[in-house]
Amino acid sequence: MVRLGFYSNILEAMTEKPTFLTRPYLPPLEEFLPYLAEIWESGQLTNGGPFHQQFEEALREYLGVPYVSLFANGTLALMTALQALRVTGEVITTPYTFAATTHALLWNGIKPVFVDIRGDTCNLDEDLVEAAITPRTTAILPVHCYGNPCTSQRLQQIADTYGLKLIYDAAHAFGVSIGGHSLLEHGDLAMLSFHATKVFNTFEGGAIIGHDLKIKQRLDYLKNFGFADEVTVVAPGINGKMNEFQAALGLLQLRHVDQAIAARCAIDQRYRMALAEVPGLQCLSIADGVKPNCGYFPVLVGADFPLSRDQLYDEFRRHDIHVRRYFFPLISNLPMYRGFASAAPANLPVATGIAKRVLCLPIYPDLDVDTVDRIIEIILSIH
Ligand SMILES: *Cc1c(COP(=O)(O)O)cnc(C)c1O
Repeated sequence: MVRLGFYSNILEAMTEKPTFLTRPYLPPLEEFLPYLAEIWESGQLTNGGPFHQQFEEALREYLGVPYVSLFANGTLALMTALQALRVTGEVITTPYTFAATTHALLWNGIKPVFVDIRGDTCNLDEDLVEAAITPRTTAILPVHCYGNPCTSQRLQQIADTYGLKLIYDAAHAFGVSIGGHSLLEHGDLAMLSFHATKVFNTFEGGAIIGHDLKIKQRLDYLKNFGFADEVTVVAPGINGKMNEFQAALGLLQLRHVDQAIAARCAIDQRYRMALAEVPGLQCLSIADGVKPNCGYFPVLVGADFPLSRDQLYDEFRRHDIHVRRYFFPLISNLPMYRGFASAAPANLPVATGIAKRVLCLPIYPDLDVDTVDRIIEIILSIH
């Protein structure tokens, strides 16, 4: 018996699957099949079909926002939002984000102007924005990084004073609220991503949240080649439409997302409790009044931790745990951006420092407690 146990332990260790940063949340397949049957029955696969209309309405209600336009993915949504608001020239943005934020500017022929971030939230530092405004500035594009709310009131005040548009990359902010208000209420427009790795997914997908019917109509023309009706093309639009498969999945995912977020937040709590007192390791705190979505669990590895960030990364890899350095390298250090004056590391000291220290630990609804405890144990055993 003892020997059997011994061998089965080895076998278990040998067949143990790697742990990834995230795993997409999927509803039970049986629940999705009736939706598929309906699509096969109707033969309507895209172009604003019945599921598209239902999902847009359901999402509008769930998020408590006035207007939603669905897209094939978040990047196309952001590119189209910039077009809809006729943003040109220069846009003030953060270097501490995913490449798509800044790429959406370049695809529109817009010059990004990088401004440093705050150490507590990893978001655009509102106190540095005004100094970066020039006569060519037309908009501010902040990111609610890891779902941490930006200082939206102050940013709106600056935008109003200087006549700038304010567009949020809210790809991390699904379901996050502050003082009972959704973060998606902020700015002229906000972009959501429903990519597989996000808190809410439709395999791929995205949306623009807005407050103005005319802008929603323009977004809807632009995502459909510029067609206003069968014979009228009002703009050189793109194909950014969400299809019926994505929309049907989105409808079903909405029924599960609260429970998926609750499961994430239980893991967030477990990490926080266990790691709070580890010298040299800092968890980013959740600000007062914020209901988070626990999409990410970033820690900052300080000088007084026995290992450097990259050594800790390697240590996890030895245990087959695939942690990620989000966000490293900084977008401003990529070849297509580092020529801009604002991309100089001396202009971005906080972002540069955090990019060297950050590590995101695995977090997703189905991550089991034993694995979470193993991850915690690896960190504690280093001390
Ligand atoms: C995921 C992500 C995007 C891109 O969204 P896609 O749906 O993958 O196109 C943009 N910005 C941020 C901050 C993201 O995390």
